[in-house]
Amino acid sequence: MKEKKEDKKGKVALWIVCIFLFTSVVIGMLYVGKMKQEDKELAYTELIKNINQGEIEKIKMTTGSTSITVTYKTLNGEEGTEENEKDRQKKVIVPSVQAFVELIQSKVDANELELELIQESTSQFLKIAETLFSLLPTILLVALMLMIFKMQGFGGDKDKVYGGESNKKSDVRFKDIAGLEEEKNELIEIVDFLKKPQAYLDMGAKIPRGILLYGKPGTGKTLIAKAIAGEAGVPFISMSGSEFIEMFAGLGASRVRKLFDKAKKMSPAIIFIDEIDAIGARRNSSSGAETENNQTLNQLLVEMDGFDTDQTIIVLAATNRPEMLDKALLRPGRFDRQVTIPAPDLNGREAILKLHSENKKFADDVDFHTIAGDTAGFTGAELANILNEAAIIATREGHNAITNDDVENAVKKVTVGLEKANRVISDKDKKLTAYHEAGHAVVSKFLETQTDVKEVSIIPRGAAGGYTMYKTNEDKYYISRTELLEKMVALMGGRAAEKVALNEISTGASNDIEVATGIARDMLTVYGMDDKLGPISLKVDDPYELQVFGEKVIAEVGNQIQQLIDNAYATAQRILLENMDILDKVANTLLEKEKISSEEFEMFFQ
Ligand code: ATP
Repeated sequence: MKEKKEDKKGKVALWIVCIFLFTSVVIGMLYVGKMKQEDKELAYTELIKNINQGEIEKIKMTTGSTSITVTYKTLNGEEGTEENEKDRQKKVIVPSVQAFVELIQSKVDANELELELIQESTSQFLKIAETLFSLLPTILLVALMLMIFKMQGFGGDKDKVYGGESNKKSDVRFKDIAGLEEEKNELIEIVDFLKKPQAYLDMGAKIPRGILLYGKPGTGKTLIAKAIAGEAGVPFISMSGSEFIEMFAGLGASRVRKLFDKAKKMSPAIIFIDEIDAIGARRNSSSGAETENNQTLNQLLVEMDGFDTDQTIIVLAATNRPEMLDKALLRPGRFDRQVTIPAPDLNGREAILKLHSENKKFADDVDFHTIAGDTAGFTGAELANILNEAAIIATREGHNAITNDDVENAVKKVTVGLEKANRVISDKDKKLTAYHEAGHAVVSKFLETQTDVKEVSIIPRGAAGGYTMYKTNEDKYYISRTELLEKMVALMGGRAAEKVALNEISTGASNDIEVATGIARDMLTVYGMDDKLGPISLKVDDPYELQVFGEKVIAEVGNQIQQLIDNAYATAQRILLENMDILDKVANTLLEKEKISSEEFEMFFQ
């Protein structure tokens, strides 16, 4: 909220500067125009001489101004006309208006000279214009600096405070977090530390300073940190690691200092640093940006070491790349507690879905247990997003409540992309897609470890021309070698079907190939699943580590990846050649109906 308000203020300021600038430029231009008319200046002594010689026809004066305009009777010896009046004019600055008027009064009285008096308002305008115009460079400079400051984001605190001075506490509680029971249990004692720190100190216990939350984006790390602050009723000061990184050296470090100073004033408090890897990455080189990062990180380390025992500040930090962090951050007294926040399991997903369904209307056919079963690997944020998408779809479709179909469509929209039923596709492409998808589905039916087909479609969705969806009804922590090998065979099913049925191959298999190659590489270099290479870890993207193993090993990895892919492709082709009749039937049904459900697909095998 606070940040939004500040944002608004910034915008208003920027608008004011822009309007001011614009007005100054316009007024300035008018002034220049005016000056141009009057740029023929005359010396005062010359004027007096000309008046005495009777050469002046008219004198224009403005009250309050020492600048006057005189009109000569002739122009280059020729009698003056109305048309050339402007050219006959000259501007003169008079030292004293009163003395000047006295001087010419007799001539005016004798009608030798015409005196025209103009109201001050115009001159006032000119004066303002003059002032504004002279200030223009300064205004421009200030505006430019303001803009740079705004872009850099300094000149204001970037951290968001919930609670503290305004006494508005974080309103998130543990009950707002579904699942994650063990993690909540592990963190509940932090709430107690914050509530009654003295009791712990009296007992001689050290209050933890830093807790690192590891987990994929969207697993609820921020939510947990807010809930701890909410439960304990203490201010929640949060900042993202990337916001510490500044273009100007030293600012990141000063920001860390300010953040901790603020927290100390509000103690007891929670500081939450999201994406801590942005500042806490391992220190190695000393080039420009790195040094700046190192300074920020050093400051963070200094601040964490520097709490007094009477200041109860707990720093929570989140990252999804724990391996990147500098070891110094993990030492005792700093982030010495680490809690992994996993993607939710089946029960967790069901609980999250139910929690996020509370403010929505659902039809009776919606079963959250089944949806949870179909969304293995989804994070809390993704599940919340699916229910929101389902509500949007239901509204668009004019339903009274969100139906099961709406939720299923939302899952597909989030995973594969939006259905593009209106895209025009040639018959040839349709046939190729039909065989490709039928290939995946039929091949996986003959693979023991692969889950059942849920839906096959040749209606384009997102970037995909068609898709085969599988049922996911089991949460797995480990995947066996056989399962990985068979996954590769299922992935090759698409390309294999194109080849055996149409004797043609297409670009449609590019993503399958990429995923399959990734699996093969990981099997060899991460999971150590190759008989010859043995259980070794080989970071293929780290040239130094590769050197350790020597070229022979690297070549072997390449050979083995090739071998695994070749085998998978051959197996897929064999399965399809043995079941050509089913492949044809599935592909033809797809061409006819565009979509096949799980039940319809099973019928081909009876
Ligand atoms: P990031 O690493 O991207 O910052 P994060 O792990 O901090 O992500 P959050 O911002 O806490 O994730 O979660 C995003 C949203 O997902 C939450 O606001 C909430 O709506 C939902 N969410 C995530 N996990 C849960 C959960 N366990 N229970 C309820 N809602 C959840």
